[in-house]
Amino acid sequence: MCGYTFRTGKKCAEETYQDSKYCIFHVDFPKDEDSEDFKRIRELKEAKVNEKIDRGDFNFEGAKLLEVNFPKDIEIEDFLNFQDAVIKKGVRFVGAKIGEDALFEGSQIGEDIFFVGAKIDGGVRFNKTEIGEEVVFERAEIDTFNDVMNELQQKYLHEIHDTIAHWKAK
Ligand SMILES: [Zn+2]
Repeated sequence: MCGYTFRTGKKCAEETYQDSKYCIFHVDFPKDEDSEDFKRIRELKEAKVNEKIDRGDFNFEGAKLLEVNFPKDIEIEDFLNFQDAVIKKGVRFVGAKIGEDALFEGSQIGEDIFFVGAKIDGGVRFNKTEIGEEVVFERAEIDTFNDVMNELQQKYLHEIHDTIAHWKAK
């Protein structure tokens, strides 16, 4: 079984990938991005992500992925969990509806997080999150927007100000 342990203390129940310690979802990418190995692992990870989305499973905790582009206007009934996930590129939602909090604590996102036009009934949590580019909340509606302000690290504040400018202009 996969050696990944979630924040709840529960172990990941997936089979390990080949001779690694982790499942395809939690296993690291090989260093060489041009290798066949990298390509195969990327494809298997993408298939896994699609399978999870189809199943309505939005627990991406600890996932190691290239990028995630959620289908437009996707509806997520409860939490969206990207805690401790490592995403080489971006995580993008367009017009998504999220019933509870979107959790990004401890995650590393190489490029951007897009919540364009999203409607989030909870908050968005960014404690100890590393984001390579920006977080875009354009036309988004977030129920507890203060959580975003309080928890986002200082270094992203200028981007948040841009967002608020958009937000108030509506
Ligand atoms: Zn796993």
